[in-house]
Amino acid sequence: MKSARTPLVVANWKMNKTPSEAAAFCDDFLSRLPGLPEGVDLAIAPAFPALERVGRHLAPTRVKLAAQDVHVEPKGAFTGEVSVAMLTDLGVAMALVGHSERRRDRKETEADFSRKMKRLADAGLAPVYCVGETLEERDGGRTEAVLAAQMAALDLFGDALPPGFVLAYEPVWAIGTGRAATPEMAVDAHAFLRARLADRFGSQSAGGVRILYGGSVTPANAKDLFSRDEIDGGLVGGASLVPADFAALAVAAGG
Ligand code: PEP
Repeated sequence: MKSARTPLVVANWKMNKTPSEAAAFCDDFLSRLPGLPEGVDLAIAPAFPALERVGRHLAPTRVKLAAQDVHVEPKGAFTGEVSVAMLTDLGVAMALVGHSERRRDRKETEADFSRKMKRLADAGLAPVYCVGETLEERDGGRTEAVLAAQMAALDLFGDALPPGFVLAYEPVWAIGTGRAATPEMAVDAHAFLRARLADRFGSQSAGGVRILYGGSVTPANAKDLFSRDEIDGGLVGGASLVPADFAALAVAAGG
């Protein structure tokens, strides 16, 4: 039996789609929305330049606007950065934090993620915190130790998780590689993460947190992953760029 948690599928477009391409996606995808299951939450995280345009398309719908990142500071001399107030003003409801591409390329750490999540939570935006091990770490038997260390970024929350907090388990070796984790691997990792949440915030809070799987989710493998009780939907890169595929993922999560 599936849990009472409403499944969520988040599109992470990364550095894809100009504002015009993003608008064309919305025209196509939103025309499919009436045919999609209502018991699944959906969100799209375009690149910053497309946020306003996508936000205008999504505003009258049930699809939420998400951001791919946010800066740790509230404002000031940080060339090229985007603040939480800017996101709020555009109607952004949630933001990714800790994506492995930022861990790898920007050398961001748990201390950065912790501050970003606190900043988002204080402004009423839901953090979508991404964790996951590399292949070397998995092969070395260190998956759980790595996940536990990454969860230290939740320490600034004190005793309570912020409303709407979402966790995304994204094994680095599965992202963009076409090699998704097996449902069993994902279930094991999700169960471990939920147990850590329960240790830290209590089982009731932990039981309400949606834990998404991310890494080469496609319409072909989504049903097998999303039908597992521990997997509350997905954070999806490549397959979220095609309206028909994103719609198929919504069906897989909500069916
Ligand atoms: C991601 O980058 O969050 C992701 C899961 O990408 P992909 O679906 O392309 O593996």
